[in-house]
Amino acid sequence: LALTGCSGAQRGGGTGGDTGGEEAAGFEAGATIGVALPDKTSENWVLAGQLFTDGLEEAGFKADVQYAPASNTVAEQQNQIQAMVTGGAKVIIIGAKDGKQLATQVQAAKDAGAYVIAYDRLIENTEAVDYYVAFDNFKVGQLQGQALLDGLEANAGHEAPYNIELFSGSPDDANSAVFFDGAMDVLQPKIDDGTLVVASGQTEIGQTATEGWLAENAQNRMDTLITSTYGGDTVIDGVLSPNDTLARAILTSVQQAGKDIPVVTGQDSEVESVKSIMEGVQYSTINKDTALLVEQAIKMVGQLQEGTDVDVNDTEQYDNGMKIVPSYLLDPVIVTKDNAAEAYANVPNLLEIVESYQ
Ligand code: BGC
Repeated sequence: LALTGCSGAQRGGGTGGDTGGEEAAGFEAGATIGVALPDKTSENWVLAGQLFTDGLEEAGFKADVQYAPASNTVAEQQNQIQAMVTGGAKVIIIGAKDGKQLATQVQAAKDAGAYVIAYDRLIENTEAVDYYVAFDNFKVGQLQGQALLDGLEANAGHEAPYNIELFSGSPDDANSAVFFDGAMDVLQPKIDDGTLVVASGQTEIGQTATEGWLAENAQNRMDTLITSTYGGDTVIDGVLSPNDTLARAILTSVQQAGKDIPVVTGQDSEVESVKSIMEGVQYSTINKDTALLVEQAIKMVGQLQEGTDVDVNDTEQYDNGMKIVPSYLLDPVIVTKDNAAEAYANVPNLLEIVESYQ
C-alpha cells in the first residue's frame, strides 16, 4: 500500500545528492514538452501553467500546457496526456487529478520513448513514472500540526485541553494522506496525552477527507460539525486545514455560526489567505514557492534533454506501489503573521501585501 497510513518513522530523510536511477539518452533541443495540470483548485496551479509556458519557451522548448477541465476531469486529463504522447512530446510533466488513474497513459508515454515527471502529486501504481518533483509533503503536514499547537498555546486564551477538528484533502490526491500523516505525527501524541481533544471523534482520514479539494465540501462538513458537536457555548479552539482554500471555507462556516474564530492552519500562500493572516483571522499558511518548483521541473527537463544525470535528493520516501520514484523535494516554509515579511522576501506580490499591513 503506497503512502496511505505511512507512519512518520518509516518516512526516512533523503539521501542527498543522488542522481536518478536510469541512464538518460538525451533528445533533440527544441522538442515539445507536455505539461498536464489538474483543475484550478488552488492559485498555485494557475500560476504553474503560466510559469511552465514561459520557462519552457525560454529554455528553448516548445511548451504544450493543458489544464483538465472542471467536469469529467479524470477522463479529460487522460485524453490530454494521450494526445501529448501522440504529438511526440519528449517529456510529459503531470500534476495528476487522480494519481491512481494514469497508469495506462504514462505507460503509453514510456512506450513512445518519452519521460514522465510527476509534478507536485505522485502518480501511483505504475513503473512508468521516471521522477517526482514536489515540496516535501510530509514536512508540510508536520509544519501544519506544529503551527496548530503553537497557535493554540498562544491564542486560545485558556489552558489545555483544546477542542480541535481535523480536515484532510481529496482522497484521489496522493498528497492528502501524506499531509495528514505529517500533521498527525505532531498532533497524535498531544491527542494521546489529552492536550488536544477532537471533540467530534472524527480522527480517521476517511472521516476528515474533502472530496475534490472543494471549498463547499469543507464548509458543509464544518457546518455539520458545529451543529453536532459545538452547540451552545462549546468552544472550537482550532482546526487543522490542509490548505488555504479550505481554511477560508472553514472560517466562513465558523463565522456564520457566530462562534469565536479558532486557530486555523493552511497551505499555498493564496492572496486572500495572506490578507486574512495579516488581519489576524487565519493563523498560518505554508509557502511553497511555485516559481522554485517549476524551475526545478524545467531543470530536470534540461538534464533529460542533454542526457546528463538528473538531480534528485530523495530515493526513499515515495513508493508509488510499483517502484520508489526518485524525487527532488523542496523545503516548505511555515508562515504566520510574525514571520510573513521574512518568508515572502522573494515573493514580491505577497511581500507587498504584507508590507501594506505594517
Ligand atoms: C497541493 C496543494 C494544494 C492542493 C489542492 C495538492 O496536491 O500539493 O498545494 O493545496 O493540491 O489544489
